Formats: sequence, structure tokens, C-alpha cells
Amino acid sequence: MSESTEPPTAPMKGACLCSGVQFSLDGAPENVFICYCTHCSKNAGGEGQISAKFRRQQVHVECGEQLLSVWTLTDTLSGSEKEKVFCSRCGCTLWTVPMKHGGTHLIVRTSLVEDGLTRLPYRMEFFSSQKTNVAASAVKSFDTMPGY
Ligand SMILES: [Zn+2]
Ligand SMILES: [Zn+2]
Repeated sequence: MSESTEPPTAPMKGACLCSGVQFSLDGAPENVFICYCTHCSKNAGGEGQISAKFRRQQVHVECGEQLLSVWTLTDTLSGSEKEKVFCSRCGCTLWTVPMKHGGTHLIVRTSLVEDGLTRLPYRMEFFSSQKTNVAASAVKSFDTMPGY
């Protein structure tokens, strides 16, 4: 059995930063995870990146197809290429396509989906040895970003 979440009642909608690319997702992902690998960390601008694994036919680009650009990562740990698909206008990564299984799945950034971080909570973490484990008690917390 896979770790599927409950299927949502309506397709979920998502967009890049500039909303030039808009997409919808049919049904539940096969998995939702946070990954701390070097690629994900660099791309997320933090220690990890949260993504949901969908079959290609579950992901529909509603508009902005012409804005989609692809960067192919070859220095992967699996040895198989991975396509990073991003918006050429705002630079936002939309999903990656691991070629290990012939490109059948899209690994979609859940933060791009409306309420995605709560509707698609992650259930697994990968490369957990690369977590920074900064002590929460050492972090001063603000509701907004003061002074910037
Ligand atoms: Zn964009
Ligand atoms: Zn990763």
C-alpha cells in the first residue's frame, strides 16, 4: 500500500509566483514528502523542499504552457536524469520529473497549491541526515519581518 492521503473532492489549483503558469491536480498524490538532499535544499532556499508525487496524467497545465522551461539535472544521486520544470518569467520551480521511471510522475511543490502545505501534509522525509536540526529555542520569532 502507498501512503496516499484522502482524495480531495475537487481538483486542487496551483500557480507559480507570477501566476503566469496555472495548473490543477486531479485526485490524491501517491506520496508527499520533504527532501533534504542538496538539490532540494538549494532549490528551496532552505534545508528542505516539500513535494507531492503525482502521476503525469493527474497534472493539468491550465495556462502558461509557453512559459515552462526545463533544466535537466544530471548529477543526481540515483544516476538518472531529473528534469526541473520552472516558469521562465518568474523563475519559480513548478515540479521535477525523475527520469528513473520514464518520466511517468511529476514531483509537484506543495507550496504552490492553494492551501497545499496543510491540504498535502508530508508523511515522509528523505535525506534526513542532512537536516540542520537548529534548536527551536535558539530562534527568535516574529509574526512579520521587522526592519526589512
Ligand atoms: Zn511565473
Ligand atoms: Zn531532494
